[in-house]
Amino acid sequence: MKVLAAVAYDNQPQFTIEELDLTGPGADEILIRIAGVGLCHTDVKALAGGMGVPKPIVLGHEGAGVVEQIGARVKKVKPGDHVVLTYDCCGACAACNGGNPAYCQQTAALNFRDGIPRDTGLFRRISGPPAGEAGAEIRGHFFGQSSFASYAIARERNTIPVRKDAPLEILGVLGCGVQTGAGAIINSFAAKPGDSIAIFGVGPVGLSAVMGGVACGCSEIVAVDVLESRLAMAKDLGATKTILASPQTKASDDLRRLIPAGVNFALDTTGIAQSYLQAIASLTTKGTFGFITIPAGTFEPNLGQVMLGGLNIRGIVQGDSVPDKFIPHLLDLYLAGRLPFDRLVTKYPFRKINDAVEDQAAGKVVKPVFTFPI
Ligand SMILES: [Zn+2]
Ligand SMILES: [Zn+2]
Repeated sequence: MKVLAAVAYDNQPQFTIEELDLTGPGADEILIRIAGVGLCHTDVKALAGGMGVPKPIVLGHEGAGVVEQIGARVKKVKPGDHVVLTYDCCGACAACNGGNPAYCQQTAALNFRDGIPRDTGLFRRISGPPAGEAGAEIRGHFFGQSSFASYAIARERNTIPVRKDAPLEILGVLGCGVQTGAGAIINSFAAKPGDSIAIFGVGPVGLSAVMGGVACGCSEIVAVDVLESRLAMAKDLGATKTILASPQTKASDDLRRLIPAGVNFALDTTGIAQSYLQAIASLTTKGTFGFITIPAGTFEPNLGQVMLGGLNIRGIVQGDSVPDKFIPHLLDLYLAGRLPFDRLVTKYPFRKINDAVEDQAAGKVVKPVFTFPI
């Protein structure tokens, strides 16, 4: 079928919007008409040639929409259902079987490479140059969805049915950014009322973590960032204290002035090794440091400090989300007014995708969501 998609080509810094032919759905697949799709930092990294994502490809992994058609073996959803798409997982490895699908052993293949070899869910060019030859194949299956398109193909494992009394076009952000941040606090840290947390970097994921801290009843929620505007937003969303970070100061010293004993949990969303060290230095005895991205630069924690403090350091993927349970839970929190993630969102018509990437990089918006029709 004909779809409109944003294609990431090799050596092109921007997306190219064009009409493509999409194959499928196969017997185990679901065709979804996309209502809206969020922009995540991972899309931007992949566009820039990062993470070994093969090109040309249709990116996008925070899609939400309406089920249009299902394959013969699909039982989980039916046409007309509202769904949020999330990361893909195999459902058969030790991690998946142990209830930890975010740590699936097939994560890299299913989300960043070509997934399960199949001839559905792939795109083909309809028109010819300038960008490429007519008929040339464009890869799909990014995070099992490639939802920077008017229609996407996904499987049961990463298609999550949701209630219909919610603004569908913005719900896709629950499938990655929001579940990563809020899930880190709610699931990974399992923060309890009265716990104290610090969030290093309050972009979309960090602000979701702030909201997660509020939902958990944390008594102190410290937001650390280099942008005043982001700190103001964190405060609006429930941060109890803010720290303006700079290369000249140590955020952990600032934090200790505010909370001398340190915090129970510190989360880094910046991916900067120096920030990881500051987060660890902000912990109280037996505190836990969590990180959601592999740091740029060398990370050399002071293991004496880690051991003598009884500290934990742990990696967190997708906020330990079990999407079938956690995404509907986040949506319930939102509709109860306890997780106002819509305040992070700025909507753009899909055609403005490149403007949104620029605006986000410039710090003008927090979380772009592209809506259809375009
Ligand atoms: Zn698995
Ligand atoms: Zn993402």
